Amino acid sequence: MAKRHGIDLGKMRELHERERADFLARRPRARALAGQSAGHLLFGVPLHWMDDWPTPSPLFVAEAQGAQLTDVDGHRYVDFCLGDTGAMFGHSPAPVAAAIARESARGLTAMLPGEDALWVAEALAQRFGLPVWQFALSASDANRFAIRWARAATGRDQILVFNGCYHGTVDDVFVDLEEGQAKPRASLLGQVYPLTEHTRVVEFNDLAALERALSDGRVACVLAEPAMTNIGMVLPDPDYWQQAQAIIRRHGSLLLLDETHTISCGPGGFTALHGLRPDLLVLGKPLAGGLPAAAYGFSAELAARAQQAKRDAPAGHSGIGTTLSANRLSCAAMRANLAEVMTDDAYQIMFERAAQLERGLLELFVRFDLPWCVTRLGARCEFQFVPRPPRNGSEAAAGQDAELEQSIHLYLLNRGLLITPFHNMLLLSPHTTAQDVDRLLAVFDQWLRAVRM
Ligand code: PMP
Repeated sequence: MAKRHGIDLGKMRELHERERADFLARRPRARALAGQSAGHLLFGVPLHWMDDWPTPSPLFVAEAQGAQLTDVDGHRYVDFCLGDTGAMFGHSPAPVAAAIARESARGLTAMLPGEDALWVAEALAQRFGLPVWQFALSASDANRFAIRWARAATGRDQILVFNGCYHGTVDDVFVDLEEGQAKPRASLLGQVYPLTEHTRVVEFNDLAALERALSDGRVACVLAEPAMTNIGMVLPDPDYWQQAQAIIRRHGSLLLLDETHTISCGPGGFTALHGLRPDLLVLGKPLAGGLPAAAYGFSAELAARAQQAKRDAPAGHSGIGTTLSANRLSCAAMRANLAEVMTDDAYQIMFERAAQLERGLLELFVRFDLPWCVTRLGARCEFQFVPRPPRNGSEAAAGQDAELEQSIHLYLLNRGLLITPFHNMLLLSPHTTAQDVDRLLAVFDQWLRAVRM
């Protein structure tokens, strides 16, 4: 019998077919909506990624609150996906919902600043140690704009990213290492510019490669998640960032840290937890509790250089920003979220739940003698089909298995447990209970019993 990663493929495939049939049988309303949507929405969904879940037809949501989500057929789920981090502190946090209700009647957008924007910038400065901020509507945009400022301020054309990274839909960063060569990501649609002309790529945790790639002094910025989270999880070696920061500085490049996911590490992200000193820092997704909002911060020195670059440029459009960026409503939501939701107390609960999940998963893998590992970044856990935590994007990619993932995810989903598609990432919100975690572990145990060799 064929076996992969310790799993009996025959048993798993049979089980998966039953789970697909079961999903459809118990969701008449979702099936009816899918039938109607097919004619009006591309792939039958409003964003084509929503078609990438492991379900045979889309799961339609009726409502979500805290760590719970209800579908249109009345099934309830404990949500460990949490909008892939957008709802990391729970769905519709009460203080954010109240701020939105209050402010939405007082003007939504004016292309002018309000007091909330200043409050938010001061709060972010305190948390991340970067004094100057700008806002955007998504982490993708914030990364795109931060790269622009970095190139403008340094007068350099190149950027450097790590193999296997994801920083949103930013064309510049879709460059992979294939047999040592930089190549544009093969799956991109409609992308026609030669990306490798201005983007370099090296493996994470490889200081010598970083040094070589920066040594000609042409790299404006190194864009990185402080720990990789989008190709499975890859943690930095214990002294990696200390040394990498010194290398980056020595070659006159800037460090742009994308904390969109690593904000799971604490109120000041990985940066504050480990005392990193980036020149630029990006936040998005959960920053306004799920309302579209993102922010990027500058060191004082870089802010001065960026402002000078703008003054020195011919008058006209900078190519940076969007009309609704920093709108009144998102600023009010960010303020409420930072003040009352993304608190030390909330993180404490999230860490406890994540530690419980990490322990439970490890016990499970030992008990079933599986060569799988678990990596945790504060309130974010990832299990991977490799015996040891990967050290770079290539090793992490080797531990991915879409078929196995889909089987696990659908089995859990059919039993009221939602986890993020594309990889095995689980998020723990302040509303997730210890019983929720126990239930996930019990159902995972059942799946393993069903498919283990
Ligand atoms: N940065 C990182 C690290 C991300 O994981 C993502 C999304 N997964 C983004 C940026 C982009 O976020 P958005 O899609 O909200 O623009």
